[in-house]
Amino acid sequence: LTVDIRLRGVVLAVLPVVLLPGQFTLTPRALRLVSHVSVSALALAVTLDWLIHPQQMDVVADMAQWAFACVIIVASSWVAQRVSELRLKLTSERESLSSVLDEVQVIAAHDSLTGLINRRRMQELLHNEWIRKDRLRQTTTLVMLDLDHFKRINDEYGHHAGDEVLRNFAELASQTLRQFDVLARWGGEEFLLMYPGTKPEQALIALERMYQRLRAASLLPTYPDVRITCSAGVSCALPGEPYEQAIERADQALYRAKTSGRDRIEVLVPTC
Ligand code: GH3
Ligand code: MG
Ligand code: MG
Repeated sequence: LTVDIRLRGVVLAVLPVVLLPGQFTLTPRALRLVSHVSVSALALAVTLDWLIHPQQMDVVADMAQWAFACVIIVASSWVAQRVSELRLKLTSERESLSSVLDEVQVIAAHDSLTGLINRRRMQELLHNEWIRKDRLRQTTTLVMLDLDHFKRINDEYGHHAGDEVLRNFAELASQTLRQFDVLARWGGEEFLLMYPGTKPEQALIALERMYQRLRAASLLPTYPDVRITCSAGVSCALPGEPYEQAIERADQALYRAKTSGRDRIEVLVPTC
């Protein structure tokens, strides 16, 4: 029993196995190479078939068969290349879209002047932190900070100077934070500071450290004699209370700090 294997048949059987999945994995360049190699391999197979089976040799019919197969190979390779190009284009567009989306998310979450997170992002963090600290039965302290007589800085030195003070204040305050503490620009010259898992008395130690640095620093280097002070209201919430309640109390404490002379920290903790 002899098996009459025609090599051209083998080449033609292998081709779809490469070309069909190739359009989803190979580059257009690789697919072009596959098509060139296939046409040549088929020509070689036909020639070898002639040498192996000279009695079956039919030059005209074999050449016609080869030419027809070549047209099919080139056409299907052309389609595979277009599919591959489209796939690569889609991949690159998806990547650039996702990097633009990342940028947009960063911009949407940050304040462009100070680089701190903005109020919207802080509200998200507060929401998550309130769930976390209630689950672990911890206390989280909030501090509302407001620069004193800031309007005067704008009026006397200009809006640019005011912006510089805000930037420098944000940088100085950020430098005094520990890893999980968060500082956000809450509005104009108002900042909200969160000390996760920290009781007010512990937070006060960190806050005092910030005040010491603020007293020693010049937030407006062009006018080094200008001293900027800040008032702070400290509070926290009872378990189960929403974070808005803690902010409300911190605001009341801040008001107290303002009315009792500014440049000070006032604490207003909830009563059970
Ligand atoms: P107080 O001690 O009572 O807080 O007085 P204040 O002057 O700090 O407070 P007030 O609310 O009267 O004024 C705040 C000023 O902050 C007014 C506003 O123009 C200024 N301000 C808010 N946002 C910005 C900003 O992004 N850049 C600058 N330069 N000024 C700002
Ligand atoms: Mg102010
Ligand atoms: Mg204010």
